[in-house]
Amino acid sequence: MIGILAVQGGVAEHERTLAKLGRQVRLVRRVEHLEGLEGIIFPGGESTTMSKLLTLGGLYEPLKEKLQQGLPAFGTCAGMILLANEVHDTRPDAVSFGALDISVRRNAFGRQIDSFEADLDFSGVDQPVHAVFIRAPWVERVGPNVEVLARAHTTDGEGNPSEAIVGVRQDNVIAISFHPEVTEDTAIHELFLNIVDHKAQR
Ligand code: GLN
Repeated sequence: MIGILAVQGGVAEHERTLAKLGRQVRLVRRVEHLEGLEGIIFPGGESTTMSKLLTLGGLYEPLKEKLQQGLPAFGTCAGMILLANEVHDTRPDAVSFGALDISVRRNAFGRQIDSFEADLDFSGVDQPVHAVFIRAPWVERVGPNVEVLARAHTTDGEGNPSEAIVGVRQDNVIAISFHPEVTEDTAIHELFLNIVDHKAQR
């Protein structure tokens, strides 16, 4: 049973992808929905709104505890922001779970290029992944236990070409800046389900 955090954001798209992969899904809105989950997806949306709803609904602490106990998690976009232990350009009262030792900058690709698409090499996936970025964050720092899975071409403050980290993994937690759930490509969901299945067998 895979949970999808369903307080706000692009829940239906992940639900559709998991159904396509033949998985049972539970939408997670209340504490009791955490029971018996093998993994959880944090969708895209608006991280500050999700943060507020998680705290108000009493889901933040119990979910944080599950993540600390090793519940496998997969975050996309706002979901990546929620899983980070440091977030730049957010509201001062926004909470995140600290399941990944990374610093993330919200809306990092700039207002002019709010949304864009690119084909990325992704560690652990054979084919290039078609990535859709929508007001996406990037990762500015990774801790020693974090593996970088993907980078995207961008430009620095002076307009020179540079690369941004857009996919990471630490233990049973993966996070990406973009939205595979809006494409037909299920490769990264499959990667996550491998992590879930591998863990369940231990
Ligand atoms: N900009 C959003 C945030 O900061 C994330 C965008 C997305 O999830 N597509 O929460």
